[in-house]
Amino acid sequence: MFQSSKLKNKIWVYLVLFSIIILLFLWFLQVVFLNIYYELSVTSDLNKVANQIENVEIFELQTKLDNIAFDHGFCIEAFSNNTLVYSSNNLNRGCLGEENLTFYKYKNEFISGDKIQENYRMINNRFNNKTLIKAVKYENYSIFINASLEPLDATTNILASQLILVTVVVLALSLLVSYFISKNISKPIIKLNDMAREISKGNYNIKNDTRSQIEEIDELGDTLNKTALELSKTETLRRELMANVSHDLKTPLTMIKAYSELVRDVTYKDKRKREENLNLIIEETDRLNLLVNDILELSKIQANTEESIIEQFDIDLLIKNVLNKFKILEQEDGYNFVYSGEENVIVKSDQKRLERVIYNLIDNAIKYTGEDKKVIVNLTNLEKSVRVEIRDTGKGINENEIKYIWDKYYKVDKSYSRNFKSTGIGLSIVKNICIKNNINYGVESKKNKGSIFWIEVEK
Ligand code: ADP
Repeated sequence: MFQSSKLKNKIWVYLVLFSIIILLFLWFLQVVFLNIYYELSVTSDLNKVANQIENVEIFELQTKLDNIAFDHGFCIEAFSNNTLVYSSNNLNRGCLGEENLTFYKYKNEFISGDKIQENYRMINNRFNNKTLIKAVKYENYSIFINASLEPLDATTNILASQLILVTVVVLALSLLVSYFISKNISKPIIKLNDMAREISKGNYNIKNDTRSQIEEIDELGDTLNKTALELSKTETLRRELMANVSHDLKTPLTMIKAYSELVRDVTYKDKRKREENLNLIIEETDRLNLLVNDILELSKIQANTEESIIEQFDIDLLIKNVLNKFKILEQEDGYNFVYSGEENVIVKSDQKRLERVIYNLIDNAIKYTGEDKKVIVNLTNLEKSVRVEIRDTGKGINENEIKYIWDKYYKVDKSYSRNFKSTGIGLSIVKNICIKNNINYGVESKKNKGSIFWIEVEK
């Protein structure tokens, strides 16, 4: 019936329809059906009264009839064998009397008949007047209760003119109410619609912070805010990845391609050289793998796609776990890891991310430590925080370079680190995690003495 139209108009149409239905109902009840309704209610009164008479004791009969005549405005006449023995005329309730021929006819018919109760209806066309009669037999009496129905034309006219006024007022009110409802509902919806349109265009830096007082609409606003936030994170991640991937993967891929072509065209006959080249390809592939993992990890942290999970845990256990992962280097490559720290030191942080920080720092210490292959880890319980130091005995870092090592892809010695599993991203991941999780971090380094990388985590 209604096509898509503005909410404001729709509310108004529904309200007007609703008012019209109520008004029509009132018109039918008060104007069209008033006569029928009036007659039905008087008939029901007569029936009730007749039943009361049947249950009354004989000595109370007259008083009861008087009361009924007085309370209801009915005229009551009682006959015994056609003789009038009671009439409520003395209470000023005019009865039809036997001179009315129709009444006379009904009276004789009822008195001589077998029925205990009967309803009669008399119409006086001349005066547009109706009388309803209830006839009841009680002992040897025949009692007639007359109720004269007043003509309702005047009342109907008054009601009709009042209803016209009510109709005008109700329609005006429904306009007013629909205006206020639409103001409260459609305005915030229009705002949210604008916001959704912006999001669909790729503008995620918008936020809806107006409250509408309507729960569902406010919830929709919050959901849109969340959607915009999530989409903006994904968009940042996409941009980071695009930038990083295109830049960083090129070098190893070029190397892999060059060595592969070398094997195919030149060294394929010479077993020793061929294996040398193939090993280089495998090494580059491993680096590529490492690089992709680091790029993914860093991009995720920078785009904030994963919420931090802050919990309390034992950092001493965490360090021991990380060191355990490098244990094989002690057995196979002669490394020497020295750890000192209290047991049961509880900190409040994101466990997974902190593990990554400690892992990267120990990994670096292993890569860059000196000939003695020694890495020392210290855990110190401070007043409000816990300090973890990772010390190596390597060449250290030049003072003028120290501020760059946290930058992405910065490597102090490019050729040196090529032989290691070096991506230049490890410390950048450490820095980003520390900043996002309020972890203090830093490095102290002395040329040819080694470096101490440290972090301080809140307790
Ligand atoms: P990489 O994968 O190259 O180790 P990082 O971001 O972890 O990348 O480190 C960046 C650079 O900082 C390294 O290439 C190295 O030159 C220097 N560096 C990091 N840790 C140490 C360390 N413990 N001792 C000396 N130099 C270090």
